[in-house]
Amino acid sequence: MYSLMANCCNWLKRWREPIRKVTLIMVGLDNAGKTATVKGIQGESPEDVAPTVGFSKIDLKQGRFEVTIFDLGGGKRIRGIWKNYYAESYGIIFVVDSSDVERMEETKETMSELLRHPKISGKPVLVLANKQDKEGALAEADVIECLSLEKLVNEHKCLCQIEPCSAIIGYGKKIDKSIKKGLLWLLHIIAKDFDALYERIQKDTTEQKAAEEQEKRERAERVRKIREERERKEKEEAEREGRTISDDVDAELVIGNPFQPISTVIAENEKKIEKEKKRQREENEKEVLVLKPKTNQEQMDTQSLISQQSNDYRLVEKYKCALSQQLDHEDENDQQVSESLDSGDNAILNPGTENSKKKAKKLKLKRSHRVEPVSTEDAISPQPTPVTPLAPVGWETPKVNRIRKLEPLGETRHNDFYGKPLPPLTLRQRPNSETHDVIS
Ligand code: GDP
Repeated sequence: MYSLMANCCNWLKRWREPIRKVTLIMVGLDNAGKTATVKGIQGESPEDVAPTVGFSKIDLKQGRFEVTIFDLGGGKRIRGIWKNYYAESYGIIFVVDSSDVERMEETKETMSELLRHPKISGKPVLVLANKQDKEGALAEADVIECLSLEKLVNEHKCLCQIEPCSAIIGYGKKIDKSIKKGLLWLLHIIAKDFDALYERIQKDTTEQKAAEEQEKRERAERVRKIREERERKEKEEAEREGRTISDDVDAELVIGNPFQPISTVIAENEKKIEKEKKRQREENEKEVLVLKPKTNQEQMDTQSLISQQSNDYRLVEKYKCALSQQLDHEDENDQQVSESLDSGDNAILNPGTENSKKKAKKLKLKRSHRVEPVSTEDAISPQPTPVTPLAPVGWETPKVNRIRKLEPLGETRHNDFYGKPLPPLTLRQRPNSETHDVIS
């Protein structure tokens, strides 16, 4: 009766315990069997696993614990990332390949370095002496000796348990009992000392975040200095060569995040070019007004020049709009145009019949609605002087200055590159495909 009551009390006590979130790290050399172990715990077959390259994470529920295990890659070059997880971990699972006697020294050094870390010392460690199913695998006592485990854990005040096991003999409910036993031991130790561990983890993670922020700021400062230095050098170089450098447009294009989605880059570019064009238009208009023409004739000339500029600008804008519409329906139009060209050309070659006359007329009408490439004589840039001819947009490679480094050296002048309307970018979906072509 007494034991029944005691059991009930224990059950009630446990039931009233809050759910605790616990993070564990699983580390060890590459090929030790970390991923196989983690998969087995998760209930997945541990067979055919590839050695962990980066890291993986699993979440599981064990009694009143919500456990997150970070399986961290053990390759020599990525062991450096382990320390980023030390602050938030309540305990450590260290997996050893007991069959790899040759790497025991490396394992010992790695473990020593881990336990020595101020954010790990004092935390509980579970050592899984894995691959016991393999011939020649070291027994528990030999692993302890090879790793000088007793000395290590005493030195760094870590509670430790070693479990000889095999990660591949079963998974889920059939997982090696030693693995399960080891995990329960670790959680039990954590539960016993939970409040102290929790406090330490809060403090350590806050410190780590602050350190990371500080590091970020320092890195940003370093990058800023390097960039300023580079820009200064480029400016000096450009001055020596008699070139001018636009600070705002180009610099932003080069410095921006190189991994932005293409749509963002296009939108940003268009905005910048629009801004640049507006600025130039305003400058041009100011210049024209400042001229203060003396005669009536001159006044009329100036006014007509201004209206011509805005007309030209509107024309170019309209043209751009029409061109993008045309490109949208390019395939459709191509077919129609080629059909009408076929019939129209015949009609022109054989004038005389009523039918062919009608067709020629129809073709003429159709052509009058087609968007033709702008002739270099017709198109005028919004700038008044010098009047730069506009390259046919969409029919030849446009000269667009995006990155300063692409500027031809020597005679290049600022006005050669700015103030020209950009060719519109049109996205066209490929048939039977998710991908898009970008037509410029
Ligand atoms: P990790 O790099 O530590 O993540 O190692 P993996 O879990 O990827 O395992 C590396 C290799 O060892 C894989 O081929 C596993 O199948 C194998 N392996 C893992 N655990 C055992 C084990 O207990 N016994 C045997 N014989 N092989 C194992």
